[in-house]
Amino acid sequence: MKGTVYGVSLGPGDPELVTLKALHVLQQVDVVFCPGTKLRSGEVKSRSGDILRALPVDGGKVRVFAVPMSKDRTSALGAYEALCREVEALVAGGKSVAITAEGDACFYSSANYLYGLLREAGCRVEMVAGVPAFIAAASSVGLHLVKQRERLLVIPGDVVVEELLESVVSKRVLVIMKVPLGEGILRPFLARHTELHYHYFEQVGTPDEFYTSDLQEILARDFTYFSILVISAH
Ligand code: SAH
Repeated sequence: MKGTVYGVSLGPGDPELVTLKALHVLQQVDVVFCPGTKLRSGEVKSRSGDILRALPVDGGKVRVFAVPMSKDRTSALGAYEALCREVEALVAGGKSVAITAEGDACFYSSANYLYGLLREAGCRVEMVAGVPAFIAAASSVGLHLVKQRERLLVIPGDVVVEELLESVVSKRVLVIMKVPLGEGILRPFLARHTELHYHYFEQVGTPDEFYTSDLQEILARDFTYFSILVISAH
């Protein structure tokens, strides 16, 4: 493992959904970096950190790195570049390093930029797969996402446009991530299309987990970042 960087997927929140492979890597590496979000109050929150604390992994080697949360990505990219240099130095000294990501590390993962930087810098980066949040969400309520010949489309909320919803939903099951970013289009669409089926999930696999398939309840909800909306015609 010496000198290797591992991109370790931790799943969406339930520590039981961490794979055995991820756990073994986390136990064996010298240093584990996990991303946290720096809130305006200065407090750092880390979903990955919460999962790690529930695992048999030595907390002494875990380092939380704060990624500033802002629409302007410049400061976040700066934080990744600084971390890249820190990891490069550890690897050059023969240390092995894990960098965690929520859900699956190769699926809409902000840490992807960091893994890319490390590869460009000549580091050996290996990825460890994990359970993506939308898979865990469907499973948590026994929802069979796609059956037989059905098709599935996953999109982030910020690319939601009404025409897309209209045309797509008749042919596909649609999974919308980062729901609040599409709120302005989604709310009127949902209110108009009462014939469709909706499943709304928040904070899957955490103590704050919430789910409803009741349209009025969804419309009354204050959408949070860690949420997923599934729309289907049947
Ligand atoms: N790599 C992650 C996705 C990160 S993008 C994965 O594989 O799932 C962040 C988005 O993921 C959030 O806006 C939300 O839509 C979704 N998400 C991540 N964790 C979640 C959770 N525990 N519950 C609900 N949605 C979650």
